[in-house]
Amino acid sequence: MLKSTILFAFSFFSLLSYSQSVRYELRMTKPQNHYFEVSMHLKDVKAKKVEVKLPVWSPGSYLVREFSRNLNQVKARDEKGNALQVTKTAKNKWVVDRNGAKEIIVDYEVYAFELSVRTSFLDLTHGFVSGSSVFMYNEETKNLKGELQIFPHASFKTITTALKPSPEAVVSEGKSYKFDHYDNLVDCPIEIGNQEVFTFNAAGVVHTVGIYGEGNYDVDRLKKDMAKIVESATKVFGQNPNKDYTFIIHNVVDGQGGLEHINSTTLSVNRWTYEGSEYLGFLSLVAHEYFHLWNVKRIRPIELGPFNYDEENYTSLLWVMEGFTSYYDELLMLRAGYYDENQYLARLIGSINYVEGSVGTRVQPVAHASFDAWVKAYRPDENSANTTMTYYSRGANIAAILDALIIKEYEGKKCLDHFMQVIYAKYYEKLGRGFTEKEFESELSSFLHKDMSDFFKKYIYGTEIPTFNDFFSPIGLGVEYVGFPQASFGASLSQSGGKLMVSRIRSNSSAENGGLSVRDEIIGCNGYRVNQSDLEKVLATLEVGETINLLISRDDKLFELVIKMENYEAPKFDFIPNKSGSTNDLLEYWLRKD
Ligand SMILES: [Zn+2]
Repeated sequence: MLKSTILFAFSFFSLLSYSQSVRYELRMTKPQNHYFEVSMHLKDVKAKKVEVKLPVWSPGSYLVREFSRNLNQVKARDEKGNALQVTKTAKNKWVVDRNGAKEIIVDYEVYAFELSVRTSFLDLTHGFVSGSSVFMYNEETKNLKGELQIFPHASFKTITTALKPSPEAVVSEGKSYKFDHYDNLVDCPIEIGNQEVFTFNAAGVVHTVGIYGEGNYDVDRLKKDMAKIVESATKVFGQNPNKDYTFIIHNVVDGQGGLEHINSTTLSVNRWTYEGSEYLGFLSLVAHEYFHLWNVKRIRPIELGPFNYDEENYTSLLWVMEGFTSYYDELLMLRAGYYDENQYLARLIGSINYVEGSVGTRVQPVAHASFDAWVKAYRPDENSANTTMTYYSRGANIAAILDALIIKEYEGKKCLDHFMQVIYAKYYEKLGRGFTEKEFESELSSFLHKDMSDFFKKYIYGTEIPTFNDFFSPIGLGVEYVGFPQASFGASLSQSGGKLMVSRIRSNSSAENGGLSVRDEIIGCNGYRVNQSDLEKVLATLEVGETINLLISRDDKLFELVIKMENYEAPKFDFIPNKSGSTNDLLEYWLRKD
């Protein structure tokens, strides 16, 4: 009893005297050199040797990017300014000898000159911070609340971020923000510059939009259309968990898509994207990233949070995270009124034919495509089309099949939305964790009142072509097979630097069987010099069994190849038009508008 009282008194005392804290300062004194200057202040750390690390990847983008290659001049000091010894122990780890200091300050600079949604950038026009590529962390203090002080360059007047301002902290010439823990800090990208900012309310949430770069956008139109997408997405779940949400949009020449965060997103688009069909593509991107605030940021595989920032975080469920999100980004465009039924179905059959018509779909199961995203999807090469299939499109097609199964099972009273609500309520709200592969499969089985293991074996862990008509005709949409064999050369060509080059070759194609290789230069055909359009004209006239003679240069060695045209049949499907004119309640329910 006495012993425990003493212990209690001691621990109470140590609690009072113990005030660990984390604070970062971010500066950009000379934006034209593309360096952010960072100071990380750690107070009352217990360890004598304090390890600090920089993540190697950015959550949501499954590639080890080795952010530490951009770090220079990592130094440390104590609160009085005395230098502390820093030893680098791994590619992304440094150890600071605390030497009794109460506070250690780690100073470093980060070269930021890669403008994408998952990397950081700084020049005279603006700065963009993707937190995991800029902010170091320490395991002992990773879960503490903290403060970020941003000191923008004098020419930058505006900061846009989902981080909450910290009004109590007075920072001269800077602005202070607070974060709940390190994950929260790096999940809030920061745009610093002179971007245009506007707000709109939708689904009871205040949305802030910061747009960098000129473009043909119309703010009033964006407010109206983005609000519609937000409302449609929120309706899927029946609730929106955020009070506020931030969009950072980069208008650039080479738009690269988006990256999701829990209450924000960064979108990178071509600056002239805001008209015609490209504008629909933009709204679909908004729908995709917004849907992620539920699917992957809250509904998630158990492997995706808390994140291990030091290495790959493997999951076989990206076909649900990215695939279902891709299914919904299209469905929301229909529900919000931007596609009509025919446009929607044309896009869906296009997605089905893209996936089933690709050789890689028969090689790589979608679960494996997810697991190997780190080394395959994010590192494509000339052979990728033969061996891989994107979990985005394939997962979207599987989501469409599951939606059809649910609609049939519940006779048009429930759809995939309701399944998403069930797993949101159970795993995010009730259990506060992600789910395993097995749990996801068993949740689907119980929701559909049938054992889904055979479905998973064939289509998730296997590479079978789904029997589309069996899945869609019960809800009123027949699917027929329309593929047929035809003479096919099987090589992709490109005209580069005046040379006709082979860029890709389909496995077991006429081109491969005849000995052609990627990176071969084709100089002549049947005794004559050819360019790309000449050769394509010749190939178009060839029938199965006919041959062509190609003059090739491979590594500057000239030789001839005789290639015999063979048949190739790419699986292809079409929806069967309803000629009776009668309407089907289940089909109407599936393709309903909000
Ligand atoms: Zn996505």
